[in-house]
Amino acid sequence: MDFARNTQTDVLVIGAGAAGMMAAGRAARTGARVLLLEKTGQCGKKILVSGKTRCNLTNTAGLAQFISMYGPNGRFLHGAFSRFFRDELLSLFTSCGVATKVERGGRIFPVSDDARDVVTAMRSYMTQGGVRIIFNSAVSAIIPEGPGGFTVRNGSGDYHARCVVVAAGGASWPATGSTGDGYKMANALGHSLSPLLPALVPLVVKETQLAKSMQGVSLRNIRACAFQCDASAADETLIPSYDSGRGAKKSSRPPVLESRFGEMLFTHFGLGGPVILLMSLTVVRALAKGPVSILIDLKSALSRDQLHRRLLADLDRFGKRKIASILKEYLPAKMIEPLLALAGIDAHTPAHQIGAGGREKIIALFKALRFNISGSLPLSKAIVTAGGVSLKEVAPRTMASRIHPGLFFCGEVLDLDADTGGYNLQAAFSTGYVAGESAAQYARRRP
Ligand SMILES: Cc1cc2nc3c(=O)[nH]c(=O)nc-3n(C[C@H](O)[C@H](O)[C@H](O)COP(=O)(O)OP(=O)(O)OC[C@H]3O[C@@H](n4cnc5c(N)ncnc54)[C@H](O)[C@@H]3O)c2cc1C
Repeated sequence: MDFARNTQTDVLVIGAGAAGMMAAGRAARTGARVLLLEKTGQCGKKILVSGKTRCNLTNTAGLAQFISMYGPNGRFLHGAFSRFFRDELLSLFTSCGVATKVERGGRIFPVSDDARDVVTAMRSYMTQGGVRIIFNSAVSAIIPEGPGGFTVRNGSGDYHARCVVVAAGGASWPATGSTGDGYKMANALGHSLSPLLPALVPLVVKETQLAKSMQGVSLRNIRACAFQCDASAADETLIPSYDSGRGAKKSSRPPVLESRFGEMLFTHFGLGGPVILLMSLTVVRALAKGPVSILIDLKSALSRDQLHRRLLADLDRFGKRKIASILKEYLPAKMIEPLLALAGIDAHTPAHQIGAGGREKIIALFKALRFNISGSLPLSKAIVTAGGVSLKEVAPRTMASRIHPGLFFCGEVLDLDADTGGYNLQAAFSTGYVAGESAAQYARRRP
């Protein structure tokens, strides 16, 4: 028999992701009877795929830098972070037997490099607190019952709870269970939603043949710069030498939207890899306003003059060699023919026949390989969902709904998203902790 159906529980949590498990565990440890309903057959499916299955659970960044990684909405997190931040999270994991380590960029991972350890720790945090979990239980509606609490409906019946924590996640990677149900539940209860957009998502270019011809090429030490205009109109002299965008200290001036240094890769449809994912939300938002292009500086460490001198010296020195052979020193092999085709130069041309015009064309491509962006991959392929339950209608110190007393939100269902680096999971854990604690306190005050 299903123990909970038609029985009263103090706190009912919807969704066993990072936020929901933390909320359930914390509510139980605050003295509440807690029921967790999870749509899939297991806990933390998204945690298991996070950080390439290694789970980058938080970051060493200082508080101000940390908050800046969420853009303007990051301010909302001051309340949750003042209650439960990185040190508290790491202590919790240590107490559950998960040692952690710091990697490049301050990223924190389990020493075991195994996301399963994070899920196991969260499960033990919950079970030690006495949380009851029902799997394969997809909630379809939350019905407010006045001061008595809520009826929560799933496919096979109703549950009654004094308060409800919605931790149903975003609408990305639906195979992990996050299919946007939390947004529908919130909306049905009168909460407004900021538009849902894919964030940390690969971008699709109009020059698909060019991208496809370089598919699989991964580049390091490049600078990608997004412009709010057609690629042909973008002025490469405006590419800043510094990073701009959220988390960066400097901002960019129009028509530059964002500039990032690092790694990227070409795919059969366009552009992917770390710097592209970081810029993607800015690009997706800008596409609603007009054309967007990305210029890639393949040789950002060298000025045009330096590059010119080096190329000229190489062409002189190896005058009998084919130009394609000389460019092997400059580019991954798979990029040489496509770039020479763009420059209108036959790959077999001997180096001594490349004149000033040809050199200029090659250098122009090195310093600004141009792509027009037509869109992004869909929300289902994004690492996070931007947008969600409007933060104006949620109290930042408690995660309580300002519309329905006894209703709480946490995790990605909220209008919060951040860059890569462990920030999204920290937000889910912190808001989950606060929502669980607040819900338990609320239930205690309303016997
Ligand atoms: C590939 C990938 C890699 C990532 N890597 C990282 C990383 O390394 N570091 C980082 O900080 N962030 C990372 N993220 C983002 C991060 O994982 C998420 O932001 C975070 O897990 C969100 O947690 P959540 O608990 O809010 O939602 P989710 O983890 O999505 O959990 C929501 C839960 O609710 C359940 N649910 C949904 N609807 C219902 C319903 N109707 N009834 C009952 N249950 C329901 C779902 O099945 C799911 O278990 C990554 C994301 C992806 C996709």
